[in-house]
Amino acid sequence: MHDRFDPDCIFCRIAMGAAPASIVAETPLALAIMDINQPTPGHVLIIPRAHVRTIDDLDAETGAAVFGLTLKTAKAVKQAVSADGLNLFQANEAAGQQDVFHFHVHIIARFAGDRDRIRFGWRTNLPPRSELDQMAGAIGALLQA
Ligand code: 5GP
Ligand code: ZN
Repeated sequence: MHDRFDPDCIFCRIAMGAAPASIVAETPLALAIMDINQPTPGHVLIIPRAHVRTIDDLDAETGAAVFGLTLKTAKAVKQAVSADGLNLFQANEAAGQQDVFHFHVHIIARFAGDRDRIRFGWRTNLPPRSELDQMAGAIGALLQA
């Protein structure tokens, strides 16, 4: 059992083999599993073994393991289902449309003409350069802190 385990968390239970899942791949720190919901064929989740709630709690080592497995698995998904394209999606907190509060990256195979099955989007808002520069500075300053 991992030192960060939540018995009430479905992904923790899957990671320790206590709940069923269709496992694509396993590494010491991460797992690739089939999502139970397949809006298009080829919806895979990459999860850390440890109970990490959101990206706020993701350490660099675990993050590297998750994204390393995401990279490999995304290419395999695309090939396995002959997808025309792929999306990666990752939700944090309810405001970010997270439903399962154990960090995960969605790999979603996309096919030409499948927009009735999957819809991503946002409204267009093009602020002046000064506003973009100000925000870039504020975020960049935190990276250096
Ligand atoms: P979120 O909305 O948090 O980004 O995504 C949660 C995902 O977990 C959904 O796509 C949902 O279908 C999937 N999911 C929920 N329960 C289970 C489960 O028991 N097993 C698997 N494999 N996926 C699940
Ligand atoms: Zn968990």
